[in-house]
Amino acid sequence: MDGANHYVVREIRINPIVPSESVLVATARSMRPKKAEEAAPRDTRKHVETCPFCVGNESMTPPQIAAYPDTGQWNIRIVENLYPVLGDDRSNPNLSFGLQQTIDGYGRHEVIIDHPQHGVAIHDMSEEHLALLFRAYRARMEQLYRSNSRLRYVLVFKNFGPAAGASIAHTHSQIIATPVIPDNVQAEVVNSRNFFHKNHRCIFCSLIDEALTFEATIYDRESGEIRRKINVGQYVVERGNKFIAIKPFASRYEWEVHILPLQHRSDYLRTPEEDFADLARVMRRTMARLDAVLGGAQYNFFLHSLPHDPGCDECEASYHWHIEITPRTSIPTGFELGSGLFVNTVAPEVAAEKLRAAEIG
Ligand SMILES: [Zn+2]
Ligand SMILES: [Zn+2]
Ligand SMILES: [Zn+2]
Repeated sequence: MDGANHYVVREIRINPIVPSESVLVATARSMRPKKAEEAAPRDTRKHVETCPFCVGNESMTPPQIAAYPDTGQWNIRIVENLYPVLGDDRSNPNLSFGLQQTIDGYGRHEVIIDHPQHGVAIHDMSEEHLALLFRAYRARMEQLYRSNSRLRYVLVFKNFGPAAGASIAHTHSQIIATPVIPDNVQAEVVNSRNFFHKNHRCIFCSLIDEALTFEATIYDRESGEIRRKINVGQYVVERGNKFIAIKPFASRYEWEVHILPLQHRSDYLRTPEEDFADLARVMRRTMARLDAVLGGAQYNFFLHSLPHDPGCDECEASYHWHIEITPRTSIPTGFELGSGLFVNTVAPEVAAEKLRAAEIG
């Protein structure tokens, strides 16, 4: 967008999928303080003697669940979490007393050691390795769903960098399997189903189509001034043959990017084998863009896929799996925590343009 520096936005943007997750885009506030950890240099060491996730220290981790390959030198390892937030059934049943209702903390919490090298970033991994990682996610999700019918959702996520909550520097992802469907996944499932009822279309597919085809100029009725120009591809960060990376129009985080399959697919578990190479490519290039623009991205990413037993027949047609990448560049304030309204100080169109312009290898 030309004149990006003068492009001022101050509006509440409604998240089309989950309207309660709307965002105040206020570009004039871009001077607010950044997280102190943001400046922390990345740990780029290849091997750390005392790191439990490093090669040679396998005996320092909790029991191994799987390794790829399963003999010889591993490329990816899955182990139990030393401090699980969920675990086996406790002997006491669910507790109910007045307004104090609990569900047993049953579930699984596991760690995926993404790579044998200690401080390697996603965008520095080979695409073959990333494809293997995405396959490992799928294999473990499948096993967990099969292992116990009480598990309603298996969440795969990654924290990278201290600002994103990573307590161990060695690159890793986590899996949490829970007996409840997380609220934000449920909200996406319910709202996309409602959209499907009205429009007979998947809202995620509609968003992709809009990003790839829509062009418009919106004028202010009174002054006749241009309020916004929407250009084809304005929100597209990276495009592959099978996947697309999009900067959501109502992004809650400044540099938030979502990756979705171009074709309608509800369940990550049913990703065709031949699609993983393109997913790896789009992921690597997107992370490289974020890293180049942010000068070392600290981020979370998480996988949203159709829950098992989603509770509706049309959910296959109405839900669309995706990965949400949320780099951490600012601290939520009292306003955000108190109102639930996130403040984004970088206009998503400007952020997308900067990410597209980044020079990557
Ligand atoms: Zn390590
Ligand atoms: Zn779709
Ligand atoms: Zn989502």
